[in-house]
Amino acid sequence: MAKQQQVVIVGGGVIGLLTAYNLASEGQTVTLLERGGLGQEASWAGGGIVSPLYPWRYSQAVTALAHWSQDFYPQLAQRLFAATGVDPEVHTTGLYWLDLDDEAQALAWAVREGRPLSKVDVSAAHDAVPVLGGGYSQAIYMANVANIRNPRLVKSLKAALLALPNVTIREQCDVSGFVLGGGRVVGVNTATGHVLGDHVVLAAGAWSGQLLGTLGLGLPVEPVKGQMILYKCASDFLSSMVLAKGRYAIPRRDGHILIGSTLEHEGFDKTPTDTALESLKASAQELIPALADAEVVGHWAGLRPGSPEGIPFIGEVPGFRGLWLNCGHYRNGLVLAPASCQLFTDLLLARAPIIDPVPYAPAGRLNAG
Ligand SMILES: Cc1cc2nc3c(=O)[nH]c(=O)nc-3n(C[C@H](O)[C@H](O)[C@H](O)COP(=O)(O)OP(=O)(O)OC[C@H]3O[C@@H](n4cnc5c(N)ncnc54)[C@H](O)[C@@H]3O)c2cc1C
Repeated sequence: MAKQQQVVIVGGGVIGLLTAYNLASEGQTVTLLERGGLGQEASWAGGGIVSPLYPWRYSQAVTALAHWSQDFYPQLAQRLFAATGVDPEVHTTGLYWLDLDDEAQALAWAVREGRPLSKVDVSAAHDAVPVLGGGYSQAIYMANVANIRNPRLVKSLKAALLALPNVTIREQCDVSGFVLGGGRVVGVNTATGHVLGDHVVLAAGAWSGQLLGTLGLGLPVEPVKGQMILYKCASDFLSSMVLAKGRYAIPRRDGHILIGSTLEHEGFDKTPTDTALESLKASAQELIPALADAEVVGHWAGLRPGSPEGIPFIGEVPGFRGLWLNCGHYRNGLVLAPASCQLFTDLLLARAPIIDPVPYAPAGRLNAG
């Protein structure tokens, strides 16, 4: 067991929660500070596909985290279910991509990476997914892609943390800045005073750049609004995830179908709009015409922590010893969370990392502010 240290984590999304869980499981004393309620922001709002939407369009840095996480998710979900009775519901349905412009690149990537992605006849896609709309001329399929029911994932992580004696959770606790002392970061400021620790971890999602700005550092993490809608159908209505023209349908085990998503640059505004509702409904009905007869039972927006190339920042901040980042996961924070939080834990505890940490290091990737 590693030397016991006091770690203060800012942000209770999937990244902060899983970082807390990993560190606490390693015997560290953890205080998790969340401005609102745990897991109510992007980590609740996301779709939960356990893959980047177009994995072949990403750098090796994102691919390495995604592959590690994809292998690890089933055991993480099992462990959380066993510990809490809340099942994060890893639902392995596979994913069909229709009418891609870069199908050849996708297939070449799959060969290089050894992924079970292959070209299929559109008629075979219709046989497998009878509710799929017409008019598509090409399809590729990857069999082992899952989705995770992210609202349940954050609920089970919260329950798991509450059961650990070495974890303190403070919700409705807004962190406004950092406490410096002896040439390092030794804590954070909140409305009710300082919270001190040996290490401070910034896992504040889309808001991470604002907080790092208080130290005069420019972290290129920007909010990117995404809206989704939800239908409720029979549990066997849609057997696979399907994706065309940038829009996708995700079936949950109980027949809920999520349709996503928009990509909007609206600052920190996350108001759902009628324009997006109509656009998402049109996409839903094009992908799956039978949804024209179904009712939209939910519509929401969340703020993704956008970062250059979607490569997260994982590691210590140069010039500010004791201050660490685990943020900037953009469109892939749910799929990347297990690997990001394991890599982070390895780095903080000075262990051999699961993968090469260099691409994610904050050094050289922060602006002057
Ligand atoms: C519509 C949509 C669809 C998506 N689909 C997918 C998908 O299919 N697959 C996938 O992998 N990813 C998906 N994502 C992306 C994924 O949801 C995010 O990358 C991920 O949730 C980011 O997690 P996080 O913990 O960094 O951020 P968040 O979940 O936003 O958590 C950050 C937390 O920090 C707190 N905080 C902020 N500032 C402070 C402060 N000053 N003091 C205290 N607390 C603070 C916030 O209140 C928040 O709870 C999607 C996102 C959206 C919006």
